[in-house]
Amino acid sequence: MADRQASYDESSARQPVSPSQDSGSRTPQPAHSGASVRAPAAVAQARRPATPSGPSLPVTPHGTTGPASRPGLAEIIGEQERMFIDRQPESARLAAEAREALAGGVTSSWQISRPQPVWLSHGSGSKLYDVDGNEYVDMHGGYGVSLAGHGHPAIVAAVQNQVTRGTHFAQPTRDALAVARELARRFGLPQWRFGNSGTESTMDAVHLMRAITGRDLVIKVEGCYHGHHDSVQVSVYPDPDVMGPADRPASVPNATGIPRALTDLTVIVGFNDLAAVGRVLDEYEGQVAGMILEPIMMNAGIILPEDGYLAGLKELLHAHGALLAFDEVKTGLTAGPSGAVGVTGVTPDIICLAKAIGGGVSVAALGGTHEVMKHVAEGGYEQVGTFNGNPLAMAATLAMLHEVATPEAYQRIEALRALAVDGVTEAIARYGLAASVVSVGAKGCIVFSPEPVRDFRGFLAINDSYSHAHWLFQHNGGVFLPPWGKSEQWLISVQHDDSDIDRFNRNVMQFASSIG
Ligand code: PLP
Repeated sequence: MADRQASYDESSARQPVSPSQDSGSRTPQPAHSGASVRAPAAVAQARRPATPSGPSLPVTPHGTTGPASRPGLAEIIGEQERMFIDRQPESARLAAEAREALAGGVTSSWQISRPQPVWLSHGSGSKLYDVDGNEYVDMHGGYGVSLAGHGHPAIVAAVQNQVTRGTHFAQPTRDALAVARELARRFGLPQWRFGNSGTESTMDAVHLMRAITGRDLVIKVEGCYHGHHDSVQVSVYPDPDVMGPADRPASVPNATGIPRALTDLTVIVGFNDLAAVGRVLDEYEGQVAGMILEPIMMNAGIILPEDGYLAGLKELLHAHGALLAFDEVKTGLTAGPSGAVGVTGVTPDIICLAKAIGGGVSVAALGGTHEVMKHVAEGGYEQVGTFNGNPLAMAATLAMLHEVATPEAYQRIEALRALAVDGVTEAIARYGLAASVVSVGAKGCIVFSPEPVRDFRGFLAINDSYSHAHWLFQHNGGVFLPPWGKSEQWLISVQHDDSDIDRFNRNVMQFASSIG
């Protein structure tokens, strides 16, 4: 998830820092030709511009320009937030109590959300239950982890079985080998290693690209999030005042505690801007180790790669002796059975996986070509970690790959995706909203923009209040979406059914009718 928009919760610690930065004195580039987005079977986009004659979205951040007889967006949000709080007295009590022993009253700074963090009791199938006894259809999915849903029998059996046989050895097991083989089959990269989080996985990818090439610079895309290690905590959600020109974005630290000297080693480009990568490679000839990106951006809503972009990156980077790493921590098993690699047909040198692959257990994987992984195998880069290949995590991951993320499960998800897309499309059309729906496999989101969004700057222009209002309507209507508005997406698990998506669609319609 990206650094979240501060407007949601001014007390949260996630506001981007905004030091000044090299805005570059680079040559202006011609506009990118912007080939249209290819739409594979699992990808759908439906857009409808605002109907000029019909009711339109309020234009101020808090919606004060709506028709006089109707409440504005700020009032709608205020009302929904009051309902939200009224439904959750025990969450409020626990949040207050927790501030004593948990810093900020939560276990990760990104659990601080407006109007208050929701404390959960348990999950079952496609549902979540909060400590006040409210039931939700879980489309938050723990920020993209819960593709298996909750208490999936195959995951439960695998974990239960392994718990009784030992939860940690720090030695390889047969399960680890089977997981590596299955990942190789799905993602087209022959060799794998394991870790525990997405952050570890992308950190290893960056280290590895530097170790192999003996170069220090890394190219990163503005608005992509790759976890919280130093090299990638750059221009994740930069402040417009310091983000520099679109054709040569500045390298803006995304958090405190990151030395300028490290930020300077990460060179920023816009998504879908192949020419910018070419210019950086020319300018820093022989200094760029490689490029890391989310092949389908999923920390800025969902932004699809334009036709030829990913293949073009691979060709360009290789021509300059640099490597390409895909961060598939989010897209992994959710975009499809072989992630974005399967959707786009482009296989990079390195793939990072985490989140959904563990069926809800913490695990990460790093895949590479023979050329890349021989540096690990021969000790040129030491990929290490006490918990790497942990037997509990490997048992859960194997069950996820062999028994949960099956072809039948993807068929089912595809039908539910289509149902959700139809529901949102109908609501947008009926109320003439300046919005569109973008979906890939199990993931989808409503983009509150009259124009298609092709990069972070387009995403930045979206008024986040609509996403927040939508989130509140869904929450109060019994559907739990990720709280960070326009940044995040829904996740459909293998245990969701038509009635879950019907509830989601009813809430979308109610939301649209109140703002449309
Ligand atoms: N990469 C992407 C694309 C992510 O979305 C995230 C987390 O949201 C990460 C990496 C970091 O993963 P983790 O939070 O498991 O460290």
